[in-house]
Amino acid sequence: MKSVLQDLNFSQIEELVLEYGEKKYRTQQIYLGLMQGKKISELPVSSVLRERLLERYEDEPVRILKTFTAADGTKKFLFALADGNIVEGVLMRYKYGNTQCVSTQVGCRMGCKFCASTLNGLVRNLTAGEIAGQILAVNRAEGGTLKTRAVTNVVLMGSGEPFDNYENVVKFLKNITAEGGLNISARNISLSTCGLVPEMKRFAEEGISLNMTVSLHASTDEERRRTMPIARRYAIKEILEACNSYFRKTGRRYIFEYSLIAGENADEAHALSLAELLKGKPCHVNLIRLNEVEERHLKTVSEKDAYRFLGVLEKNGISATLRRSMGNDIGGACGQLRASYMKEGNADG
Ligand code: SAH
Repeated sequence: MKSVLQDLNFSQIEELVLEYGEKKYRTQQIYLGLMQGKKISELPVSSVLRERLLERYEDEPVRILKTFTAADGTKKFLFALADGNIVEGVLMRYKYGNTQCVSTQVGCRMGCKFCASTLNGLVRNLTAGEIAGQILAVNRAEGGTLKTRAVTNVVLMGSGEPFDNYENVVKFLKNITAEGGLNISARNISLSTCGLVPEMKRFAEEGISLNMTVSLHASTDEERRRTMPIARRYAIKEILEACNSYFRKTGRRYIFEYSLIAGENADEAHALSLAELLKGKPCHVNLIRLNEVEERHLKTVSEKDAYRFLGVLEKNGISATLRRSMGNDIGGACGQLRASYMKEGNADG
Protein backbone atom coordinates (compact mmCIF):
# COMPACT_ATOMS: atom_id res chain seq x y z
CA MET A 1 0.00 0.00 0.00
CA LYS A 2 1.20 3.51 -0.81
CA SER A 3 0.94 6.30 1.77
CA VAL A 4 -2.24 8.20 2.57
CA LEU A 5 -2.17 11.87 1.57
CA GLN A 6 -5.12 12.58 3.89
CA ASP A 7 -2.81 11.77 6.82
CA LEU A 8 -1.12 15.12 6.30
CA ASN A 9 -2.25 18.41 7.77
CA PHE A 10 -2.18 21.70 5.89
CA SER A 11 1.41 22.60 6.74
CA GLN A 12 2.67 19.12 5.87
CA ILE A 13 1.00 19.39 2.46
CA GLU A 14 2.65 22.77 2.06
CA GLU A 15 6.06 21.21 2.74
CA LEU A 16 5.32 18.59 0.12
CA VAL A 17 4.27 21.17 -2.44
CA LEU A 18 7.48 23.13 -1.88
CA GLU A 19 9.52 19.92 -2.04
CA TYR A 20 8.01 19.33 -5.48
CA GLY A 21 9.07 22.85 -6.50
CA GLU A 22 5.46 23.95 -6.90
CA LYS A 23 3.94 27.30 -5.99
CA LYS A 24 2.68 27.63 -2.42
CA TYR A 25 -0.93 28.31 -3.45
CA ARG A 26 -1.18 24.73 -4.72
CA THR A 27 -1.39 23.71 -1.06
CA GLN A 28 -4.84 25.24 -0.68
CA GLN A 29 -6.05 23.61 -3.92
CA ILE A 30 -4.90 20.19 -2.79
CA TYR A 31 -6.11 20.58 0.79
CA LEU A 32 -9.57 21.85 -0.14
CA GLY A 33 -9.94 19.19 -2.81
CA LEU A 34 -9.14 16.45 -0.30
CA MET A 35 -11.48 17.94 2.30
CA GLN A 36 -14.24 17.86 -0.33
CA GLY A 37 -13.63 14.12 -0.59
CA LYS A 38 -11.89 14.24 -3.97
CA LYS A 39 -9.49 11.61 -5.21
CA ILE A 40 -5.97 12.72 -6.08
CA SER A 41 -6.80 12.13 -9.75
CA GLU A 42 -9.64 14.68 -9.41
CA LEU A 43 -7.65 17.46 -7.75
CA PRO A 44 -7.72 20.79 -9.58
CA VAL A 45 -3.96 20.93 -10.11
CA SER A 46 -1.70 20.21 -13.08
CA SER A 47 -1.59 16.65 -14.37
CA VAL A 48 2.15 16.63 -13.67
CA LEU A 49 1.56 17.34 -9.99
CA ARG A 50 -1.24 14.77 -9.81
CA GLU A 51 1.06 12.15 -11.32
CA ARG A 52 3.79 12.95 -8.82
CA LEU A 53 1.35 12.64 -5.93
CA LEU A 54 0.02 9.35 -7.29
CA GLU A 55 3.52 7.87 -7.32
CA ARG A 56 3.60 8.11 -3.54
CA TYR A 57 0.00 8.28 -2.39
CA GLU A 58 -3.19 6.24 -2.76
CA ASP A 59 -5.67 7.82 -5.18
CA GLU A 60 -8.66 6.84 -3.06
CA PRO A 61 -7.63 5.39 0.31
CA VAL A 62 -11.23 4.93 1.47
CA ARG A 63 -13.94 3.98 -1.02
CA ILE A 64 -17.59 3.35 -0.28
CA LEU A 65 -18.11 -0.26 -1.28
CA LYS A 66 -21.74 -0.67 -0.29
CA THR A 67 -24.49 1.47 1.19
CA PHE A 68 -27.49 0.06 3.06
CA THR A 69 -30.41 2.35 3.86
CA ALA A 70 -32.80 1.57 6.71
CA ALA A 71 -36.45 2.52 6.97
CA ASP A 72 -35.62 5.19 9.58
CA GLY A 73 -33.09 6.88 7.25
CA THR A 74 -30.03 5.40 8.95
CA LYS A 75 -27.37 4.46 6.43
CA LYS A 76 -24.69 1.86 6.92
CA PHE A 77 -21.57 1.80 4.83
CA LEU A 78 -18.93 -0.72 4.01
CA PHE A 79 -15.67 1.01 3.13
CA ALA A 80 -12.90 -0.60 1.12
CA LEU A 81 -9.36 0.40 2.07
CA ALA A 82 -6.53 0.44 -0.47
CA ASP A 83 -5.11 -2.88 0.76
CA GLY A 84 -8.46 -4.63 0.40
CA ASN A 85 -9.40 -4.47 4.07
CA ILE A 86 -12.93 -3.49 4.92
CA VAL A 87 -14.36 -1.38 7.73
CA GLU A 88 -17.89 -0.25 8.43
CA GLY A 89 -19.63 2.93 9.47
CA VAL A 90 -23.07 4.34 10.11
CA LEU A 91 -24.79 7.67 9.47
CA MET A 92 -27.66 8.36 11.85
CA ARG A 93 -30.15 11.17 11.36
CA TYR A 94 -31.24 13.19 14.35
CA LYS A 95 -33.19 16.41 14.69
CA TYR A 96 -30.01 18.35 15.37
CA GLY A 97 -27.97 16.88 12.52
CA ASN A 98 -26.31 13.78 11.15
CA THR A 99 -23.96 11.71 13.27
CA GLN A 100 -21.41 9.48 11.61
CA CYS A 101 -19.94 6.55 13.49
CA VAL A 102 -16.39 5.79 12.31
CA SER A 103 -14.01 2.87 12.77
CA THR A 104 -10.49 3.33 14.09
CA GLN A 105 -9.07 -0.16 13.49
CA VAL A 106 -9.71 -3.14 11.24
CA GLY A 107 -10.96 -5.59 13.86
CA CYS A 108 -10.07 -5.15 17.52
CA ARG A 109 -8.03 -6.98 20.13
CA MET A 110 -9.91 -6.00 23.27
CA GLY A 111 -11.95 -9.21 23.26
CA CYS A 112 -15.24 -7.96 24.78
CA LYS A 113 -17.59 -10.94 24.93
CA PHE A 114 -20.61 -9.15 23.44
CA CYS A 115 -18.90 -7.46 20.50
CA ALA A 116 -18.63 -8.63 16.89
CA SER A 117 -15.66 -6.39 15.99
CA THR A 118 -13.29 -8.44 18.06
CA LEU A 119 -14.30 -11.91 16.82
CA ASN A 120 -11.21 -12.31 14.65
CA GLY A 121 -8.86 -10.08 16.61
CA LEU A 122 -7.01 -7.03 15.35
CA VAL A 123 -6.01 -6.91 11.69
CA ARG A 124 -4.40 -3.48 11.70
CA ASN A 125 -4.67 0.13 12.81
CA LEU A 126 -6.23 2.69 10.50
CA THR A 127 -4.11 5.71 9.65
CA ALA A 128 -5.37 9.19 10.55
CA GLY A 129 -6.30 9.76 6.92
CA GLU A 130 -8.20 6.50 6.69
CA ILE A 131 -10.31 7.50 9.69
CA ALA A 132 -10.95 10.95 8.18
CA GLY A 133 -11.48 9.38 4.77
CA GLN A 134 -14.66 7.64 6.00
CA ILE A 135 -16.14 11.05 6.83
CA LEU A 136 -14.89 12.71 3.65
CA ALA A 137 -16.39 9.95 1.51
CA VAL A 138 -19.76 10.01 3.27
CA ASN A 139 -19.99 13.81 3.33
CA ARG A 140 -19.41 13.85 -0.40
CA ALA A 141 -21.77 10.96 -1.17
CA GLU A 142 -24.50 12.65 0.86
CA GLY A 143 -24.12 15.88 -1.08
CA GLY A 144 -22.39 17.78 1.72
CA THR A 145 -19.83 20.52 1.15
CA LEU A 146 -17.31 22.15 3.44
CA LYS A 147 -19.76 24.97 4.20
CA THR A 148 -22.85 22.84 4.66
CA ARG A 149 -21.66 19.50 5.86
CA ALA A 150 -23.88 16.42 5.56
CA VAL A 151 -21.97 15.05 8.55
CA THR A 152 -22.32 17.33 11.57
CA ASN A 153 -21.31 15.04 14.42
CA VAL A 154 -18.81 12.23 14.72
CA VAL A 155 -18.60 9.33 17.15
CA LEU A 156 -15.57 7.03 17.36
CA MET A 157 -17.69 3.99 18.07
CA GLY A 158 -17.20 1.82 15.02
CA SER A 159 -14.86 -1.12 15.07
CA GLY A 160 -11.63 -0.77 17.00
CA GLU A 161 -10.45 0.68 20.28
CA PRO A 162 -9.48 4.32 19.59
CA PHE A 163 -6.91 4.43 22.42
CA ASP A 164 -5.25 1.25 21.14
CA ASN A 165 -4.40 3.37 18.06
CA TYR A 166 -3.59 6.49 20.06
CA GLU A 167 -1.22 8.45 17.80
CA ASN A 168 -3.30 8.08 14.66
CA VAL A 169 -6.55 8.89 16.44
CA VAL A 170 -5.14 12.07 17.97
CA LYS A 171 -3.72 13.12 14.61
CA PHE A 172 -7.11 12.45 13.02
CA LEU A 173 -8.87 14.53 15.69
CA LYS A 174 -6.49 17.44 15.20
CA ASN A 175 -6.98 17.29 11.43
CA ILE A 176 -10.78 17.20 11.35
CA THR A 177 -11.19 19.89 13.97
CA ALA A 178 -8.79 22.22 12.11
CA GLU A 179 -10.24 25.48 10.87
CA GLY A 180 -10.22 25.80 7.12
CA GLY A 181 -10.77 22.07 6.72
CA LEU A 182 -13.77 20.01 7.79
CA ASN A 183 -13.75 22.13 10.94
CA ILE A 184 -15.90 19.82 13.05
CA SER A 185 -16.01 21.21 16.57
CA ALA A 186 -14.62 18.90 19.26
CA ARG A 187 -17.85 19.29 21.20
CA ASN A 188 -19.59 17.52 18.32
CA ILE A 189 -17.23 14.57 18.60
CA SER A 190 -17.51 11.62 21.00
CA LEU A 191 -14.70 9.19 21.61
CA SER A 192 -15.62 5.85 23.14
CA THR A 193 -13.04 3.74 24.93
CA CYS A 194 -13.26 0.45 26.80
CA GLY A 195 -11.21 2.21 29.47
CA LEU A 196 -7.48 2.28 28.68
CA VAL A 197 -6.55 4.35 31.71
CA PRO A 198 -3.02 5.55 30.77
CA GLU A 199 -4.24 6.76 27.36
CA MET A 200 -7.27 8.42 28.95
CA LYS A 201 -4.92 10.38 31.20
CA ARG A 202 -2.58 11.21 28.36
CA PHE A 203 -5.49 12.38 26.24
CA ALA A 204 -6.53 14.85 28.94
CA GLU A 205 -3.27 16.69 28.17
CA GLU A 206 -3.91 16.99 24.40
CA GLY A 207 -6.21 20.02 24.71
CA ILE A 208 -9.06 18.43 22.76
CA SER A 209 -12.37 18.94 24.59
CA LEU A 210 -14.57 16.24 23.17
CA ASN A 211 -17.20 14.00 24.77
CA MET A 212 -15.29 11.31 26.62
CA THR A 213 -17.29 8.11 26.64
CA VAL A 214 -16.37 4.94 28.50
CA SER A 215 -17.89 1.51 27.93
CA LEU A 216 -18.65 0.46 31.47
CA HIS A 217 -21.27 -2.31 31.19
CA ALA A 218 -20.89 -3.29 34.87
CA SER A 219 -20.63 -1.58 38.25
CA THR A 220 -18.13 -3.89 39.93
CA ASP A 221 -14.74 -5.08 38.69
CA GLU A 222 -15.70 -8.67 39.26
CA GLU A 223 -18.72 -8.45 37.00
CA ARG A 224 -16.95 -6.33 34.45
CA ARG A 225 -14.21 -8.96 34.09
CA ARG A 226 -16.80 -11.49 32.97
CA THR A 227 -17.51 -9.66 29.71
CA MET A 228 -14.52 -7.31 29.29
CA PRO A 229 -10.98 -8.71 29.45
CA ILE A 230 -9.60 -5.17 29.81
CA ALA A 231 -11.19 -5.07 33.28
CA ARG A 232 -8.45 -7.41 34.44
CA ARG A 233 -5.94 -4.66 33.71
CA TYR A 234 -7.72 -1.55 35.01
CA ALA A 235 -10.13 -1.14 37.89
CA ILE A 236 -13.32 0.89 37.65
CA LYS A 237 -11.91 3.15 40.36
CA GLU A 238 -8.97 4.07 38.11
CA ILE A 239 -11.33 4.72 35.19
CA LEU A 240 -13.41 7.07 37.33
CA GLU A 241 -10.27 8.93 38.39
CA ALA A 242 -9.21 9.33 34.76
CA CYS A 243 -12.72 10.58 33.88
CA ASN A 244 -12.58 13.09 36.69
CA SER A 245 -9.24 14.45 35.59
CA TYR A 246 -10.64 14.85 32.05
CA PHE A 247 -13.58 16.72 33.56
CA ARG A 248 -11.25 18.98 35.55
CA LYS A 249 -9.25 19.80 32.42
CA THR A 250 -12.11 20.32 29.99
CA GLY A 251 -15.21 21.06 32.07
CA ARG A 252 -17.07 18.48 30.03
CA ARG A 253 -19.11 15.84 31.77
CA TYR A 254 -18.32 12.30 30.74
CA ILE A 255 -20.56 9.56 29.46
CA PHE A 256 -20.84 5.87 30.27
CA GLU A 257 -22.10 3.31 27.81
CA TYR A 258 -23.99 0.48 29.46
CA SER A 259 -25.32 -2.30 27.22
CA LEU A 260 -28.03 -4.28 28.97
CA ILE A 261 -27.39 -8.03 28.90
CA ALA A 262 -29.99 -10.40 30.36
CA GLY A 263 -28.81 -12.28 33.43
CA GLU A 264 -25.49 -10.35 33.45
CA ASN A 265 -25.91 -6.70 34.33
CA ALA A 266 -29.55 -5.75 33.86
CA ASP A 267 -31.36 -6.52 37.13
CA GLU A 268 -32.65 -3.93 39.56
CA ALA A 269 -29.77 -4.73 41.94
CA HIS A 270 -27.32 -3.86 39.14
CA ALA A 271 -29.10 -0.56 38.53
CA LEU A 272 -28.90 0.31 42.22
CA SER A 273 -25.23 -0.62 42.35
CA LEU A 274 -24.52 1.51 39.26
CA ALA A 275 -26.42 4.44 40.77
CA GLU A 276 -24.40 4.10 43.97
CA LEU A 277 -21.14 4.04 42.00
CA LEU A 278 -21.93 7.15 39.96
CA LYS A 279 -23.79 9.21 42.55
CA GLY A 280 -22.77 12.88 42.43
CA LYS A 281 -20.43 12.43 39.47
CA PRO A 282 -20.65 14.85 36.51
CA CYS A 283 -21.67 12.09 34.16
CA HIS A 284 -24.44 10.71 31.99
CA VAL A 285 -25.35 7.09 31.32
CA ASN A 286 -26.34 5.85 27.88
CA LEU A 287 -28.23 2.60 28.16
CA ILE A 288 -28.62 0.41 25.13
CA ARG A 289 -30.20 -3.00 24.84
CA LEU A 290 -27.59 -5.52 23.73
CA ASN A 291 -27.58 -6.18 20.02
CA GLU A 292 -27.39 -9.93 19.95
CA VAL A 293 -24.37 -11.28 18.08
CA GLU A 294 -24.88 -14.68 16.51
CA GLU A 295 -21.45 -16.02 17.48
CA ARG A 296 -21.94 -15.03 21.13
CA HIS A 297 -24.47 -16.50 23.49
CA LEU A 298 -25.46 -13.38 25.35
CA LYS A 299 -29.10 -12.32 25.32
CA THR A 300 -30.67 -8.89 25.30
CA VAL A 301 -33.36 -7.61 27.68
CA SER A 302 -36.95 -6.66 26.92
CA GLU A 303 -37.80 -3.02 26.32
CA LYS A 304 -39.82 -3.08 29.52
CA ASP A 305 -36.84 -4.25 31.56
CA ALA A 306 -34.64 -1.63 29.93
CA TYR A 307 -37.09 1.13 30.95
CA ARG A 308 -37.25 -0.31 34.45
CA PHE A 309 -33.44 -0.11 34.70
CA LEU A 310 -33.56 3.47 33.44
CA GLY A 311 -36.24 4.29 36.01
CA VAL A 312 -34.07 3.06 38.89
CA LEU A 313 -31.14 5.19 37.75
CA GLU A 314 -33.33 8.28 37.38
CA LYS A 315 -35.00 7.77 40.74
CA ASN A 316 -31.55 7.70 42.27
CA GLY A 317 -30.53 10.97 40.69
CA ILE A 318 -28.43 9.63 37.80
CA SER A 319 -28.78 11.37 34.45
CA ALA A 320 -29.47 8.63 31.91
CA THR A 321 -31.12 7.85 28.59
CA LEU A 322 -32.15 4.66 26.88
CA ARG A 323 -30.84 4.92 23.37
CA ARG A 324 -32.98 3.82 20.51
CA SER A 325 -31.32 1.18 18.46
CA MET A 326 -31.26 2.63 14.95
CA GLY A 327 -31.32 0.96 11.57
CA ASN A 328 -32.04 -2.48 12.97
CA ASP A 329 -33.44 -3.74 9.70
CA ILE A 330 -30.02 -3.42 8.04
CA GLY A 331 -27.70 -5.43 10.25
CA GLY A 332 -26.99 -4.90 13.92
CA ALA A 333 -24.13 -3.75 16.07
CA CYS A 334 -20.52 -2.81 15.47
CA GLY A 335 -18.63 -5.25 13.37
CA GLN A 336 -21.65 -7.31 12.45
CA LEU A 337 -21.98 -5.83 8.99
CA ARG A 338 -18.36 -6.52 8.12
CA ALA A 339 -18.57 -9.97 9.69
CA SER A 340 -21.60 -10.95 7.63
CA TYR A 341 -20.04 -9.55 4.46
CA MET A 342 -16.95 -11.67 5.07
CA LYS A 343 -19.06 -14.73 5.75
CA GLU A 344 -20.82 -14.40 2.43
CA GLY A 345 -17.53 -15.50 0.96
CA ASN A 346 -16.02 -12.12 0.22
CA ALA A 347 -12.25 -11.83 0.50
CA ASP A 348 -10.82 -11.06 3.92
CA GLY A 349 -8.09 -8.41 4.13
N1 SAH B 1 -13.67 0.18 21.59
C1 SAH B 1 -14.49 1.30 21.95
C2 SAH B 1 -15.34 1.75 20.80
C3 SAH B 1 -16.36 0.70 20.33
S1 SAH B 1 -17.77 1.25 20.66
C4 SAH B 1 -15.27 1.01 23.20
O1 SAH B 1 -15.15 -0.09 23.69
O2 SAH B 1 -15.91 1.89 23.72
C5 SAH B 1 -19.23 0.96 20.58
C6 SAH B 1 -20.03 0.71 21.85
O3 SAH B 1 -20.91 -0.37 21.58
C7 SAH B 1 -19.22 0.29 23.06
O4 SAH B 1 -19.82 0.82 24.21
C8 SAH B 1 -19.36 -1.21 23.01
O5 SAH B 1 -19.09 -1.77 24.28
C9 SAH B 1 -20.77 -1.37 22.57
N2 SAH B 1 -21.10 -2.64 21.94
C10 SAH B 1 -20.30 -3.48 21.25
N3 SAH B 1 -21.00 -4.54 20.83
C11 SAH B 1 -22.26 -4.37 21.25
C12 SAH B 1 -23.45 -5.15 21.13
N4 SAH B 1 -23.45 -6.29 20.50
N5 SAH B 1 -24.58 -4.66 21.67
C13 SAH B 1 -24.58 -3.47 22.33
N6 SAH B 1 -23.51 -2.70 22.47
C14 SAH B 1 -22.35 -3.15 21.96
